[in-house]
Amino acid sequence: MPSNTTARPSVRVNIRLTQPWFEIRRSGIQGRGAFAVRTIPKGTRIIEYTGERISHAEADKRYDDEAMGRHHTFLFIATSRTVVDARREGSEAKYINHACDPNCEAVIDRGRIFIEAVKTIRAGQELVYDYSYGRDGTETAADERRYRCRCGRRKCRGSILEPKPEASAKGHRSLRTRR
Ligand SMILES: [Zn+2]
Repeated sequence: MPSNTTARPSVRVNIRLTQPWFEIRRSGIQGRGAFAVRTIPKGTRIIEYTGERISHAEADKRYDDEAMGRHHTFLFIATSRTVVDARREGSEAKYINHACDPNCEAVIDRGRIFIEAVKTIRAGQELVYDYSYGRDGTETAADERRYRCRCGRRKCRGSILEPKPEASAKGHRSLRTRR
């Protein structure tokens, strides 16, 4: 029998620490969604939104909004130069749906995107954050239809786009940045 008793971290502990916070299931909001499998404490950094890092021009080339009946949900603006496209190799963060009354938020930290809990989330609850896609003031009726929100929350503002300028505070930013 080997008698090596050197203390080493047990594999079991590591597995427990990396258990996922959520699983992917069908969602009443849209397609698939992310549902907590255990209590997620407020402030938890749940998952990084990863994928292929591409330029804004490349993102525009890949996705033609006007050709799509509904908005695409796999792009995330990381910086003024970079968009993360999660469609092919992205993390499961891409399945987290939008809602107007969110329990998560997207935080950009040195060009990386993380989804964090802004409330304590109970097992079984769907993880959601407010996409607040930026407006440039040229949105058409077709755009408004494409980005209509179906989150079903009491506080639903009816759109996945950020609130219209007259309704939003001065200096509103759709994405929080943190250094
Ligand atoms: Zn809504």
